[in-house]
Amino acid sequence: MKKKLPGIALLIWGANLLGLLALGIFLSASGFFYPPGLAAPQNLPPPRKTSRPSRTPFPNVTLRPSLTPWPTPSLGPSVTPMAVSTNRQIIGYSVENRPLEVYRYGTGPSVKLIVAGIHGGYEHNTVELAAELIAYLNDNPQVIPADTSLYILPDLNPDGYARVKGVDGRANANNVDLNRNWPYRWQKDWKRDGCWLYTPIEGGAAAASEPEVQALIAFVDLMRPQALISYHSAALGIFPGGRPDFPESIRLAEDIAAVSDYPYPPIDTGCDYTGNLTDWAANTRNIPAVDIELTNHRDTDFAQNMRILQVFLGWR
Ligand SMILES: [Zn+2]
Repeated sequence: MKKKLPGIALLIWGANLLGLLALGIFLSASGFFYPPGLAAPQNLPPPRKTSRPSRTPFPNVTLRPSLTPWPTPSLGPSVTPMAVSTNRQIIGYSVENRPLEVYRYGTGPSVKLIVAGIHGGYEHNTVELAAELIAYLNDNPQVIPADTSLYILPDLNPDGYARVKGVDGRANANNVDLNRNWPYRWQKDWKRDGCWLYTPIEGGAAAASEPEVQALIAFVDLMRPQALISYHSAALGIFPGGRPDFPESIRLAEDIAAVSDYPYPPIDTGCDYTGNLTDWAANTRNIPAVDIELTNHRDTDFAQNMRILQVFLGWR
């Protein structure tokens, strides 16, 4: 039943709407929707409507005002071993001698590892997502739980990333698919049914033949992460590492799927991903591991991956 509103009610209603609008603009301008120091407006897309801006990104983490923030990593050419003065370490070099860098946040015993860019320029948005996460954590080190150390390797395939943003950027400089060079179920070639076909790429001359893979194996064996995310694009979803199934990878995938829009179970194209990183991590190192595929080859899905980061940091 409709009732005509008297003029005075319309006036009050309109005034309320205006007031709410003004409050919203004021809060946005004052940085209310971002934790202190988050430089989101600088490089990041504005938060999407689905990002629930009123939600505090890390409500379970208590602020520790006495914590000294990690300094912003310098971009100088000199190689600095990991030390109190920096959170950046070079763990090896690519075929074309580009550094493989890892960033560390936190000092706790529960070690987590995020790897991006394994497919180089073809999946360049994973490298850009990692850079956004690094920028966020540089400004907000307090979100790392006290018992946690998070390592981010933003670009495992810098040669492919530098070559081209497209299909020809997928391989490393030896034309090897770095996600098929791991020493578990390794094959030089594989049945191409349902698999990526755009360029004639191979699994390497032998398992772990590539310097990028060798460097990350050494780093994993040194740091012994308790969970691992490997970022890819695009669109197929969240893949738990392990063949046969590794239940802890499945649990991690389910917990990540609960806060994300990425398909889970992932889309099955019929491809057999021989010699891949997360199967190797799960089946040879007992590390719960997942591949996460971003929505497309362009966007970083930052808001969504902040939710995933929060789950990942708290995951036990
Ligand atoms: Zn990929």
